[in-house]
Amino acid sequence: MPESHEAHHDHSPVVLLIDDSEFVHRLLKARLKSESIHIVSEFDGRSGINRAVSDLPSLILLDLDMPGMDGFETLRELKEDPTTRNTPVIILSGQDTTQDKVTAFDLGAVDFVPKPFELTELRARIRSSLRISYLLSMLEQKAQIDGLSGLYNRSYFDNRWEEEYERCMRQASGLSLAVLDIDHFKSINDTFGHPAGDAVITGLSNIIQDHVRKCDIACRYGGEEFALILPDTHPSQAKLLCERIRTEIENTVWNRHPDRKITISIGIAGCTDGPTIQPNKWIEQADANLYKAKNSGRNKTISSMTDGLVNPLDKAG
Ligand code: GH3
Ligand code: MG
Ligand code: MG
Repeated sequence: MPESHEAHHDHSPVVLLIDDSEFVHRLLKARLKSESIHIVSEFDGRSGINRAVSDLPSLILLDLDMPGMDGFETLRELKEDPTTRNTPVIILSGQDTTQDKVTAFDLGAVDFVPKPFELTELRARIRSSLRISYLLSMLEQKAQIDGLSGLYNRSYFDNRWEEEYERCMRQASGLSLAVLDIDHFKSINDTFGHPAGDAVITGLSNIIQDHVRKCDIACRYGGEEFALILPDTHPSQAKLLCERIRTEIENTVWNRHPDRKITISIGIAGCTDGPTIQPNKWIEQADANLYKAKNSGRNKTISSMTDGLVNPLDKAG
């Protein structure tokens, strides 16, 4: 009988145990008590996969021999789903055959532990897998963060934009893309030096981060260009947000050049109920609006609907 999702308040890693045997769950819960891990239980492959997707455990302990969907099938599905693909899986098996081990490792298991458990060894293997899992997640995080600004980097943007586009299509929801570019940034570098330019980039990044919601995705798109992916956001709402950012930058006094203001120009393209153009065209449209903003005096936001219609809330511009 599956337990209810219990609250998990501390920061100990979540370990998902998928095993059809009540006994194994009781045994491991009792014997792994001293480890700083939080064990969640599922008793069949399907529920295990669902739980892995919803709870994003740091490690999965997976029984091979289960009625219905067996451990290999479960492992195969876990490795096919991008959400769970990188979660390490330790196989628990009643049999210690070479063929089972080879199959498990080929399918992507990180370890194979025969039953009955040598509990000291199992504990050590769990610790070792958790260490690797932690390092991998740090690496993965580092690979998607821009070093100077702390925002997501370009390669993260590219993947995430595709994903959010697909989601917008599936759910026929609103989605806006904003591109921001610092005005006359070259002259900031030339006049006050490169470190002053860097300070502007980090300052703007902090302001952006202060204004966006948790579900918004703020990226450093290139040198002094930023991109905001705004899910469930109409272009007119995106414009309100960007105008707040633009105004705050304009009113910021910079330590290194208190008499020289910084302004930004912004282009937005968005839809209200599902995409009407291809993802690349969408970026081009936001970019075109950015260039309109640049060419009509800078320090402004220009937005448009991807379907070319004028949003009634957005007649002003
Ligand atoms: P515009 O208003 O038309 O956008 O003019 P701009 O000078 O901002 O645009 P341009 O593209 O000519 O120059 C961008 C400059 O940004 C050139 C480059 O040296 C500088 N830059 C790019 N990345 C960085 C960085 O990480 N730090 C600093 N300090 N400068 C950078
Ligand atoms: Mg610029
Ligand atoms: Mg530029």
